[in-house]
Amino acid sequence: ELPPIDGDFYDLSDRLSPEDRALQLKVREFMETEIKPIVNKYWNRAEFPFEIIPKVAELDICGVTFEGYGCPNKSFLMEGILASEMGRIDASIATFFGVQSGLAMGSIYVCGSEEQKQQWLPRMQKLEIIGSFGLTEPEVGSAAAGGLTVTAKRQGDKWILNGQKKWIGNATFADVNIIWARDVDDNQVKGFIVEKGNPGFSVEKIENKMALRIVQNGLITLTNCEVTEENRLQNCNSFKDVAKVLKMTRAGVAWMAVGCARGAYESALKYTRERVQFGKPIASFQLIQNHLVEMLSNITAMQTLVYRLSELQDQGKLTDEHASLAKVFCTMRTRDVVSRAREVMGGNGILLEYDVARFVADAEAIYSYEGTKEINSLIVGRAITGFSAFV
Ligand code: FAD
Repeated sequence: ELPPIDGDFYDLSDRLSPEDRALQLKVREFMETEIKPIVNKYWNRAEFPFEIIPKVAELDICGVTFEGYGCPNKSFLMEGILASEMGRIDASIATFFGVQSGLAMGSIYVCGSEEQKQQWLPRMQKLEIIGSFGLTEPEVGSAAAGGLTVTAKRQGDKWILNGQKKWIGNATFADVNIIWARDVDDNQVKGFIVEKGNPGFSVEKIENKMALRIVQNGLITLTNCEVTEENRLQNCNSFKDVAKVLKMTRAGVAWMAVGCARGAYESALKYTRERVQFGKPIASFQLIQNHLVEMLSNITAMQTLVYRLSELQDQGKLTDEHASLAKVFCTMRTRDVVSRAREVMGGNGILLEYDVARFVADAEAIYSYEGTKEINSLIVGRAITGFSAFV
């Protein structure tokens, strides 16, 4: 009898309370039964499976760590575990969830007034309202902190927004879009809740992606788009407030990467135990075992790192550089793991139906979004040397 396939080699889930462990297993089962069977079809067509939205809502996990507004008020560790469970089956669905639960709801939770939180969060928690998060622009990616070109001009009790946002996940169908713009009067970044159908707001789907094809990324154009003062995030006064949201979500991306690595490793291990060459399962060959152990070592190192990351977050001690280091390390190691998984599967490693090719492609996007390797490295570099190398 062969040993069970499990990427949690050091049994880190052991640290969860029975209630949290049950939630982890519930989400795992959902991903295995509802998402896994349909995911390659949608990925291939670059379409979003809208029918899953009410099923995700039933899990009742949106806004995982937030207190009030119908949110679960779980630990950051639990949030990480759930991101990993989703990533283990599919990074696009994990990203959809991360945009809704982390970036969009998180922006309102961190930067919204009490009235705004009451108005939006309970329905976003139930996924009755879908959100997006618009920071990146066609000409401004890594340099978003100081360089946003989308402008906001106050006119009485209204704001006029102009410019474009690129890569915005969920934007093609989102009901509310968080748009970060530079106030032309005080030059500071402000946040706006822009509703679908708002005059002056339009979205075009970004086609031809080779990664995260299920995620519907949009190019948003704002042309004299009028937003009321009521829809300006009342507690965002500068980019520092946006950074608070990103610190939280970058930790989640690190966890999601661990999930992808784990999903690819588990598929590859299963395959190598079943695939026979030279009269033996290829898992019995030393060179194949070396790949598998390298994969597992990387996954175990990542997992122990993100557990500590979440502990720091739960203790209120997480810094930007902690989150950035984890994001860089995990997305880099994941790239290595998924490419080894593909390698040990030979030609079948590039076929979607063998469940590894998708991880290989998707790892590329996770590596670059929420701050590239270079940008997150520079955040850590600045913290440890005392010198900023950004410009
Ligand atoms: P650039 O900033 O042009 O960078 C190009 C290269 O130059 C990178 O390797 C970068 O590291 C390097 N570089 C830049 N500056 C420096 C420097 N000072 N030193 C060294 N190297 C440097 N954005 C959103 O706002 N909302 C979303 O929902 C969203 N979803 C996304 C989903 C996907 C699938 C993708 C691919 C992107 C998404 N993004 C989103 C945008 C993402 O955050 C950006 O792509 C990312 O920040 C990098 O910006 P850029 O692509 O413009 O690259």
